[in-house]
Amino acid sequence: MGIKGQLLVVSGPSGAGKGTICKALIEKNPIWISTSCTTRKPRAGEVEGVNYFFIEREEFLKRIDNDEFLEYAEVYGNFYGTPRSEVLRLLEEGKDVILEIDIQGALKIKSSYPEGVFIFIMPPSMEELRNRITNRGSETPESLKTRLEAAYDEISFASKYDYAVVNDEVDKAVKKIESIIIAEKCRVFKIKDELLGRF
Ligand code: 5GP
Repeated sequence: MGIKGQLLVVSGPSGAGKGTICKALIEKNPIWISTSCTTRKPRAGEVEGVNYFFIEREEFLKRIDNDEFLEYAEVYGNFYGTPRSEVLRLLEEGKDVILEIDIQGALKIKSSYPEGVFIFIMPPSMEELRNRITNRGSETPESLKTRLEAAYDEISFASKYDYAVVNDEVDKAVKKIESIIIAEKCRVFKIKDELLGRF
């Protein structure tokens, strides 16, 4: 069997810039991003099937029962989940796949799929994080407060990840992740069967 694709799991607090970084990564590299399902309502400009598959809570619960998610979590009162079959198929085909998911989901994947690469995106500072979330304009004062408080908690989980990337400039952060991907593909334990088969 050929080498499987690399599963990259990217998390970080709201406003750290995960979305922007992942978008830039997939534009420049042959990497597939998994589109999650959520029970959250779409924000202005979000597109069904691109940002998320927006589904009703009842439908989400049905899919949990049918074991259709690789992982799922409740975040800020809404469910989010990674569709299992698509991600596993892409990895089997040797494709690299990014999951941009919260910490609870990332830790679940880490226990079931430890060969994944776990990357935590850090904001340059809490002040910058506050500015970014405020400038997004989609948060109420309460939800801003919730997201900032959550950010403090979330940053304390960075130590559970394999890599931490500070997003002070998107281009630099993307380069760091590209380097991580290259390095991970040289890990002996990931390639030894393929390597030994050749000699
Ligand atoms: P937002 O509502 O801002 O789009 O996302 C809120 C949080 O849910 C973010 O931390 C995002 O990474 C996370 N998230 C998005 N999709 C998934 C998913 O499929 N599973 C999990 N566990 N978290 C997700």
